[in-house]
Amino acid sequence: MTEENTPRHVKILIIGSGPAGLTAALYAARANLAPVVLTGMDLGGQVSKTHAVENYPGFPDGISGEGLVKDFNDQAIRFGTEIIFDVATEVDFSARPFKVTTYGEEFTADTLIITTGAAAVTLNIPGEEEMIGRGVSYCATCDGHFFKDMEVVVVGGGDSALEEALYLTHHASKVTIIHRRDELRAGSILKQRAEENDKIHFIWDSVLTNIPEGEKVESVKVKNVKTGEESDLSTEGVFIFIGHTPNTELFEGKLTLDAQGYIVVDHLMQAQIEGVYAAGEVADPHFRQVITSAGMGAGAAIQAIRYIEEKGL
Ligand code: NAP
Repeated sequence: MTEENTPRHVKILIIGSGPAGLTAALYAARANLAPVVLTGMDLGGQVSKTHAVENYPGFPDGISGEGLVKDFNDQAIRFGTEIIFDVATEVDFSARPFKVTTYGEEFTADTLIITTGAAAVTLNIPGEEEMIGRGVSYCATCDGHFFKDMEVVVVGGGDSALEEALYLTHHASKVTIIHRRDELRAGSILKQRAEENDKIHFIWDSVLTNIPEGEKVESVKVKNVKTGEESDLSTEGVFIFIGHTPNTELFEGKLTLDAQGYIVVDHLMQAQIEGVYAAGEVADPHFRQVITSAGMGAGAAIQAIRYIEEKGL
């Protein structure tokens, strides 16, 4: 709130600071609309925790997720974006301008671009939550270095699981991928790299059923889903990469969400309310790439700029 206790007004408010949010900010800033980005808990979203991004064009040698986010951020700021390290706690679409409350401030906004992204899915098994930070992790880039010369397991069979397993081989002595089927979902390049890596081993048709609690992870209970057989596997780390769920709690009952909770947008990135746009993984259960999120962010900003012009706001 300002000194007079009135909310601060902005033309374009962007909630979330991943590739979609920072790209939307770049476009809005270049249209001289002085956008404000509410970062959420961390600047950069999921990609900032990715060790290496090798499929974002323009970087033939790849770039770290952190480096890419820094570049996105610097570029958006250069043209007049304001980045605020705060979290949106309430949105009100019932009147115009829209109202957004954060921990620290209250805003009114002519248009909103929602880019809150998605978060890691948990296994929901005994011990998982209790052992977070004691061996259970959802981010190899953040926590891999704690496991130097140790044996770890990775759960999942998609691109994330393999990419993170490959990263973990730089630290751990052995990485065992536990997958619930006998066929990987991941694409062929990562599959080949993982299969050729001496440090990576696979346990097929199996799921984790328990992570025994203690000071640190020492083992996991593994169940073969075909035979029903259960066994204990010694390990010091459990890295879980089994997909994502959209961060849309704030918008439940206010915007149309699909069955998985993703914001439903039209082909012009507009959500169910005129002037409200969504971009990136919060509205994309299909592609989930840095490049597609950035593209959606650009599209959402272009539409928000047009809306502001058309309405004379
Ligand atoms: P994903 O593709 O949905 O894969 C999730 C994996 O976890 C699947 O192998 C799935 O098994 C398994 N799984 C799901 N629920 C489980 C449970 N309860 N217990 C055990 N296993 C479970 O998710 P992702 O790997 O995070 O990738 C998400 C998207 O990002 C994909 O589109 C992917 O291509 C993309 N991505 C791309 C790159 C890259 O291009 N370098 C890197 C990372 C991610 P099933 O196979 O049996 O379903």
